[in-house]
Formats: sequence, structure tokens, C-alpha cells
Amino acid sequence: MFQKILIANRGEIALRVLRACKELGIQTVVVHSTADADAMHVRLADESVCIGPPPSRDSYLNIHQIVAACEITGADAVHPGYGFLSENAKFADILAAHNITFIGPSGDHIRIMGDKIEAKRTAKRLGIPVVPGSDGAVTDQKEARRIAAEIGYPVIIKASAGGGGRGMKVALTEADLEIGLQTASTEAGAAFGDDAVYIEKYLEKPRHIEVQVFGDGAGRGVHFGERDCSLQRRHQKVWEEAPSPALNAEERARIGNICAKAIADLGYSGAGTIEFLYENGEFYFIEMNTRLQVEHPVTEAITGIDLVHEQIRVASGGGLSVRQEDIKFNGHAIECRINAEDPRTFTPSPGTITHFHTPGGLGIRVDSGVYSGYKIPPYYDSLIGKLIVHGRNRVECMMRLRRALDEFVVDGIKTTLPLFRDLVGNADIANGDYDIHWLEKYLAKEE
Ligand code: ADP
Repeated sequence: MFQKILIANRGEIALRVLRACKELGIQTVVVHSTADADAMHVRLADESVCIGPPPSRDSYLNIHQIVAACEITGADAVHPGYGFLSENAKFADILAAHNITFIGPSGDHIRIMGDKIEAKRTAKRLGIPVVPGSDGAVTDQKEARRIAAEIGYPVIIKASAGGGGRGMKVALTEADLEIGLQTASTEAGAAFGDDAVYIEKYLEKPRHIEVQVFGDGAGRGVHFGERDCSLQRRHQKVWEEAPSPALNAEERARIGNICAKAIADLGYSGAGTIEFLYENGEFYFIEMNTRLQVEHPVTEAITGIDLVHEQIRVASGGGLSVRQEDIKFNGHAIECRINAEDPRTFTPSPGTITHFHTPGGLGIRVDSGVYSGYKIPPYYDSLIGKLIVHGRNRVECMMRLRRALDEFVVDGIKTTLPLFRDLVGNADIANGDYDIHWLEKYLAKEE
């Protein structure tokens, strides 16, 4: 087991990882920018190292400084959290070259899944169902027209190097396709330095369903069920739940087993999430994230398993603590992402939190790095906390969520809490009847 882990992140996830390390009796080092000197993760860690000024590229993304911090403090492993360097293959390789363990998969696996064309090809080879479309990059119009005619309109043109929902164009007709191909490719070149684009069938009313997987790096793979993250705004997840209200036990087992087997065959190590669009009973792979996800706590709530403990165990060579048959699903969980943003316009609302009171009681978990008197710096993501609620079934979970939202107080800044108070009373949400476009339509109606 590791003696000392350096946490290369900030905010709620830095605290989340710190808690797991403390429970396992592992010493902790955190790094922080000058803007985060007062952050909770800095206060609670055994050691901290200031690695630079506020902008992320000079601090949380500064590989050189983070490796130096490991060497100064004698950390033998790094947990990258999510975002920042968590899916940076070069970072994983550099740590390996310095004999520091990256708590995550190999650089090669990160690289494969970071390239969307390569990821889709790999998924297909491993027996994961993918969206019908081109086999690889599409360069000429004639080929594009042939593929689109074959799969049928509408189609979507996506950048191979894309991310965060950028670089995508929907084409309803052949005329759209011609323009779309050109603009998508030019935009991708400018944004990502790689103009490769590919085509796939555009699904009109899908849900976003993702499977949590784990590999031990030695040929064993398990799945921890799925999460439904269909409630999104601008491709950003807002509300996540497990299990999905749309799946039955047979579908859950079918897609879960396909994913677990794929992870085993790939020889993958650590936590991963295989993301699908789901429509009319079919799953279509869109991408794989090679890290812990923001929404991992809903899976922890229904399985009772600490996924960060599991990541640390696997990275230290201790293997998975569970076999597939040990993973049991219990009840229902929902997570609300609380952002420091206006609940209608979503403009960021940094500033000082004058009062912060979190809900409590059975089935309630709050993961947050903020406190009363904390000043939110304007440089980073606006997520200030996550409310995770668990109940024996979805109805109980929703009742408890409504009560918890009523108790939650964040004064001094605007937050997305009022949005969740509206959503929890909505009939479609109560029925679990929503797709990936539902939230944007709802917000447009409210304006
Ligand atoms: P990114 O890496 O940029 O987030 P994804 O491939 O994960 O890109 O897609 C992001 C979102 O775009 C999906 O959650 C979905 O809302 C939409 N999307 C992607 N592919 C399709 C498709 N084939 N049909 C319909 N919507 C799609």
C-alpha cells in the first residue's frame, strides 16, 4: 500500500480523495494555487505545497510543478481527481518515468479513449454496441454522402479530438451535410489542432446512460451498474441518478456484463465509465472516460462500495476487493450538482458565502469543500458541492431529496438550488420520463 498520496486537484473532489486516504491510513499531500490557500482541502491535508498562481495552466495543469511537489514531499502516488490532468496520458507517462504511481489507467489506455475515432473502433472490437456511422475519419464529400445515405438522416458530424460537447454539427439533409463537414473540420482544426471528423447517426430522443466499470489490470473486470445522466444543459450534467428509471433488470445485466467483459479483455486498470446513448431499448457507445466521475457517489450509495478506496487498492497492486457477484444494488440515489451560478441564466456567481448550512439525516450525503465565510475564487469550475440522497426506492429518494433541498442554505451568492427545488416537484421528473433534451426545453419554457 502507498505511504503518501499527492492529490492533484481542488474543491470537493480533493476533499473526497483526502477522506478516502485518511480512512486507509495513508498520508496526504495537496497542491494548491495561491487563490486556494484557504481551501478546505489545504486545511485538512497532512502537507500542502503551493504550486503557482491562480490560472489553472500555471498551477493545477503544471505537470513540472506537480512532479516537483511529489519529489519534495516523497509522495509515492498521485490521485488526479476528475478534470485537470486526470485524462492526460503524458502526465501518466511522466509520473511512471519518475517511479510515481498514477492512480488511474495506463497512459496508453488514456490515449486510446481520448481519441474518439480510436475509442469507437476499440469499443466495437470489444463487442460494445456503437452508434452506426463511418468507420473512421471522413474527408471527402462523396464518401460522407454515401455513409449518410446508408445510415439515414439526420446524422451528426463529430470531431475526433472533441470534448465537452464541442465540435459537433447535426445535418438533417444532404445540403446540411456538405456545409457541416466543412465547418466541423475547420472548427476542430482550430479548437483541437486536429481536423479529423467522423459521421454517425443522430439519435433524436436518447437518454444518457453510463456504466461504471473497474479493471484490475490483470484481466479481471467488473461493473457497478449504471447511472442516468440525461438531465443536461449544454452537454453539462445537472442531475444524475442510479439506477436509471428507464432500464429493467435484464437490460442492466446485459449492458453491464458487456462492459465488464470489455474492460477485462482490454486489460484496463482502475475506474472507468462507458457512456451510451439509449433509445428504444438499444445502447449506443459514445465515449469512455478513463477516470473517476463527478457523479460517482450515486453508484457508491446504491452499492455501499467506496470507489476511491477501490481505485487506490487497484493502483497499489492489491486488486479489486469485490467480485461481480459481491456487488449488490440497493435502493435508489440522486445527485444534484450545486453550482455557484444564477439558477436561470447559469452565469457564474463567485463571491463570499456568508452562511452555509447543509442538510442531514438518514440517506443524505453532501460532498463540498466550501464553508461559511469562504470566498469562491473566480478562476475555476463553478461546482461548489453535490447533494446525494439515497432511499429504498425512487419515490422515497425523491421525498427525501425534496426535504433535503428545503434544509440547504447557501447565502451570499447565487446557486442552482432553486432549480432543483422546481425539478423535484415536476411531474415528468417524478415519473422518470425525460431524455437528453428535456432540461433545455424546460428551461426555455420557463423564460
Ligand atoms: P463530448 O466528449 O464532447 O462530451 P460526446 O460524444 O460524449 O462528446 O457527446 C456529447 C453529447 O452530444 C451527448 O451526451 C449527446 O447529448 C450528444 N450526442 C453525441 N453523439 C450523438 C448522437 N449520435 N446522436 C445524438 N446526440 C448525440
